[in-house]
Amino acid sequence: MNQQNKIRNDWSIEEVRRIYHMSLLTLTYEAAHIHRQWHDPSTVQVCTLLSIKTGGCPEDCAYCGQAARYHTNIKVKPLMDVGEVIACAKRAKESGSTRFCMAAAWREVRNNRDFDNVLEMVKGVYALGLEVCCTLGMLTADQAKRLREAGLSAYNHNLDSSENYYQEIISTRNFNDRLNTLEYVRRAGISVCCGGIIGLGESAEDRIAMLHKLATMPSHPESVPINALARVSGTPLADLPKVQIWEMVRMIGTARILMPKAMVRLSAGRSEMSTIEQAWCFLAGANSIFTSESEELLVTPNPKLTEDRAMFELLGLHPFSLKENQKLDLG
Ligand code: SF4
Repeated sequence: MNQQNKIRNDWSIEEVRRIYHMSLLTLTYEAAHIHRQWHDPSTVQVCTLLSIKTGGCPEDCAYCGQAARYHTNIKVKPLMDVGEVIACAKRAKESGSTRFCMAAAWREVRNNRDFDNVLEMVKGVYALGLEVCCTLGMLTADQAKRLREAGLSAYNHNLDSSENYYQEIISTRNFNDRLNTLEYVRRAGISVCCGGIIGLGESAEDRIAMLHKLATMPSHPESVPINALARVSGTPLADLPKVQIWEMVRMIGTARILMPKAMVRLSAGRSEMSTIEQAWCFLAGANSIFTSESEELLVTPNPKLTEDRAMFELLGLHPFSLKENQKLDLG
């Protein structure tokens, strides 16, 4: 691939604003062009996301059905058994996933038996030859190091929104807490998975500020998930309007132009998108999706594996092979 564009970490907010507000067709065209310089546009990484501990979280993220304080229908489940998680990862590998992500609804990691079990899960998934990602809440520098030693490839910790808007959606921690965990992850040699959610009631300027923050980190996140709010009944944001597909395309296209090398992941919200709408996201530079056996992305609906296979066939896409995974050098 002809990588003409250099990686830049010095984007100005004006430049990001100009890219974000390009006409949609021009933005998609430019993003598709850059996407083709850095990636094979016919391949999409399929990641499996498993909720290893569900619900009962003490945090107050206004979008999240797993926060204990909201009256949702989510069933609280304790940390899964290590063997069960490894068996799930094996099935994910057999069905074409090359990255296995484990999510626990915790505020932060504690040095206890549950963390020891998570380390065993990481070791077991790593031994299968999959990329291993975790999202467990806030970490200390030492915990990040232990996860790395266990074989963790990546850690997910989203910025969610702009620094300004962050306090409107979460009051139990602040933006700097997020940045600290990301710093520990980076220093431990783990690749960073960090993106955000749109549709939280934020403005275009908040979206631009979030993308600017990601694109001006000393190293771009290797993985940038772009989520559309999945409205969960019982949460404060349940009645917000559905995110329009063009807003997702705009976010993905801008992320692709700003961070050409990153994996841009079309994350929550796919169950409300048609194949044509998802095709626009791939065209704008998305090159990864999440699947799960339960047809849920954590606690919100996600397309069936069979639907995704049919979509790939129709669009001429194919999932990354494990060999292509290694080429990514994300670990
Ligand atoms: S998003 Fe994570 S930290 Fe926030 S309430 Fe949900 S599970 Fe807890």
